[in-house]
Amino acid sequence: CGIVGYVGPNAPSNRPLDVCLEGLARLEYRGYDSAGVALGAPGLLVSRKKAGKLANLLDSLAADPLPEAVTAIGHTRWATHGSPSDMNAHPHLSADGKLALIHNGIIENFASLRAELEAEGVPFASQTDTEVVAHLLARAFAEIGDLTEAMRVVTARLAGAFTLLAIHEDAPGVIVGARRNSPLVIGLGEGENFLGSDVAAFISHTSRALEMGQDQIATVTADDVSIIDADGQPVTGRTYEVDWDA
Ligand code: GLU
Repeated sequence: CGIVGYVGPNAPSNRPLDVCLEGLARLEYRGYDSAGVALGAPGLLVSRKKAGKLANLLDSLAADPLPEAVTAIGHTRWATHGSPSDMNAHPHLSADGKLALIHNGIIENFASLRAELEAEGVPFASQTDTEVVAHLLARAFAEIGDLTEAMRVVTARLAGAFTLLAIHEDAPGVIVGARRNSPLVIGLGEGENFLGSDVAAFISHTSRALEMGQDQIATVTADDVSIIDADGQPVTGRTYEVDWDA
């Protein structure tokens, strides 16, 4: 029920992961049944996910740390399709393990998309509605070569409500986000940027935020944020100062 993303310098050690974990802790109040993270760097994509409290994920990361990264995405899940289990927790990965995706919301037409993918031999690892999006996005990226355009094409096929964040090891330093009927806010930093389902995810780092409109797609790097609409046209998002006391 919460989403966090971070792209920026890896200093101090594994800041992307630390920012994500802190953001997830700040979103805990919303309730959840599982938590997970994925980290990206050139030629690297790793993830860890655990059913239960964030503490379970933190214990696992302490026992077996993840490598340094430049992008990180984090998720707390409130299960709608598939029991709360390690496998159903997010992130969900593509079959080749190069793409990680997190999702809040419900993909209403997942069953027909899953049947289509299974008919083509795509292996599924979970019972979630979300996993279809990971496979569709990886396939679109392989075809198009651009993660943003792949997200645009894939979200056009989805029905329902979603906040989505994705990273791919062949698109290092980039987080692509999309939203429909579910919130996604971008936090603007200096040489680093944040994404969250709620400003609470990044408010301890920046109060400068950029609101994303319905059916918009954001491409976020450490130095740049660009937004397009469902037709692929550039959009100027509304930037504002978060009034945290309000
Ligand atoms: N529908 C997705 C699932 O059950 C996402 C749930 C959520 O919003 O956390 O995995």
